[in-house]
Amino acid sequence: MAVQQQVNRFIRGIGASPGIIIGKAYLVERFKVRLPEKQIEPGQVEEEVKRFLNAIQESRNQLTEIKEKILDPQVRQHSFILDVHSMILDDEMLLQDTVDTIRKKKVNAEWALDLTLEKLDTAFKAIEDEYLRERRSDLHHVSARIFRNLLGKKHDDITQIKGKVIIVAHDLSPADTLQMTLKHVAGFITDIGGKVSHTAILSRSLGIPAVVGLEVATSLINGGDLLIIDGETGEVVINPMEEVSQSFLERKRRTKSIEREVLKYASLPAETRDGVRVRLQANIEMVDEISSAKMHGAEGIGLYRTEILYLNRKDLPTEEEHFQIYRRLAENIFPATATIRTLDVGGDKFLPDYSKNNEMNPALGLRAIRFSMKEADIFRTQLRGILRASAHGKLRILFPMISGIEEIRQAKAMLEEEKRSLLKGKIPFDQGIEVGAMIEIPSASITADLLAREVNFFSIGTNDLIQYALAVDRINEHVSYLYEPLHPAILRIIRGVVQSANQHGIPVAICGEMAAEPAYALVLLGLGLDEFSMNPVSIPKVKKVLRMARFEETRSLVVQLFQFATASEIECFVRNWMVKRFPEDFIQCDIEELEA
Ligand code: PEP
Ligand code: MG
Repeated sequence: MAVQQQVNRFIRGIGASPGIIIGKAYLVERFKVRLPEKQIEPGQVEEEVKRFLNAIQESRNQLTEIKEKILDPQVRQHSFILDVHSMILDDEMLLQDTVDTIRKKKVNAEWALDLTLEKLDTAFKAIEDEYLRERRSDLHHVSARIFRNLLGKKHDDITQIKGKVIIVAHDLSPADTLQMTLKHVAGFITDIGGKVSHTAILSRSLGIPAVVGLEVATSLINGGDLLIIDGETGEVVINPMEEVSQSFLERKRRTKSIEREVLKYASLPAETRDGVRVRLQANIEMVDEISSAKMHGAEGIGLYRTEILYLNRKDLPTEEEHFQIYRRLAENIFPATATIRTLDVGGDKFLPDYSKNNEMNPALGLRAIRFSMKEADIFRTQLRGILRASAHGKLRILFPMISGIEEIRQAKAMLEEEKRSLLKGKIPFDQGIEVGAMIEIPSASITADLLAREVNFFSIGTNDLIQYALAVDRINEHVSYLYEPLHPAILRIIRGVVQSANQHGIPVAICGEMAAEPAYALVLLGLGLDEFSMNPVSIPKVKKVLRMARFEETRSLVVQLFQFATASEIECFVRNWMVKRFPEDFIQCDIEELEA
């Protein structure tokens, strides 16, 4: 049934993938399926179990078929998500629990599956990490498929889309997204989802504008409605009036020209006017982000966070799983290098069976390398996976939350033991694999001269360094005004770390968010950083300012910064310096306003 047509109706969601697009709406699966709940006779039980298992098999076949039909190579590289869905279909808990419920409670398969999902859902909701909570959607997509098969409902045939459309859905499963022929999809909008939902991640890396979390999109929009979507601001206009369309088109022209201008820098070397060359790399959490990293001009992966491998599952990843994922990483980024950071759980991310241990201050508790030392088997499994993958490209290992020499020595000793065991088993790996320490704890920065003797490189994690040095919880909005990257203490710490590294001839990278801010990047350049790692999208704009600046002028800028006593003065001085150097891109700073 069509809803009343909306005219010039504005709705707002979460901008998930930037870009402004005008196009016709194509609705995917408008209505949710109503599930029949029936009690069954004892004699029907086995028949019902069989019906459930058949629906599972049918779902498996459909996923295999979808995978085989993906022709677009850009889309194909994301098809591992379909493997995740197939794995869910094989999940013991999902299958056994549902079958047990059919048998014990004598209910139909739909009802039994729904009860199992409720249990799984409760477990997922308890997860604090936003990314992982979002992975619940994988479970929902898979179960929607099973329900449709149980009910004999047809699946939307989105392979048949004609023309170029904006897909409107309650939620889009990765299987849906992957089935679409990209040339027919101008954008995506969904009722639910956040910035890290699969639709968001996929659309970002495919460069398709998307708005998620609109709540009411599918109830207000009819197929064929004209839509404008702005994937940056999260705005959507249904059947816009002519002048509204024109103003969006004007905005699109402006942003496109800025993007084009900045993207020109992606493929150019990160070199200053006076010939100082630095390395701009990408921070990623999934191998499929490599395409975006390359597109934005990353010269390698400076930080591969590995937590995601552990967090959305009941069991722990096996050595083989680690190996396969890191191998894909190494092969896809080759000949450039990828830096794999070992597990950094604790703080605000926890493994399901290793809850907070009732820690009063989890950020100061059993986090990162401390957790790895305690759970040595988990750590060794990961180390072996990384080592084995190192035979397939250029990898480096980075240990997080190092607070002193003993920790780094202990971690290295365990790595050496795993190397020896691989040698014994004649399993190939890179024997010269480099090892680095994250500098994100004040004690590590103060003893950087000692630590520099133990490792091949440093990577400064300013996200945590600022938190620990200034005693400002990085996720607490009440003290966020104190979270100041240009605090005199932070500048002094970074200067000291660089000096120690230089004295011992090892390179220093920065992989905290600070590196992604063009003005800060120039300060970091002047402080002597060699490598900058950041979210892929920020690389071109940082490259632009680096290429327009002279190293010598950033050095004198930094000398001046050390004369100021407060973070606000430094911030203002830097911003006004940027206004002088890049008048079109920066706005004048007024110290009184900043301090107010
Ligand atoms: C950091 O602390 O700066 C960092 C890069 O690591 P994470 O944000 O994952 O703690
Ligand atoms: Mg950190």
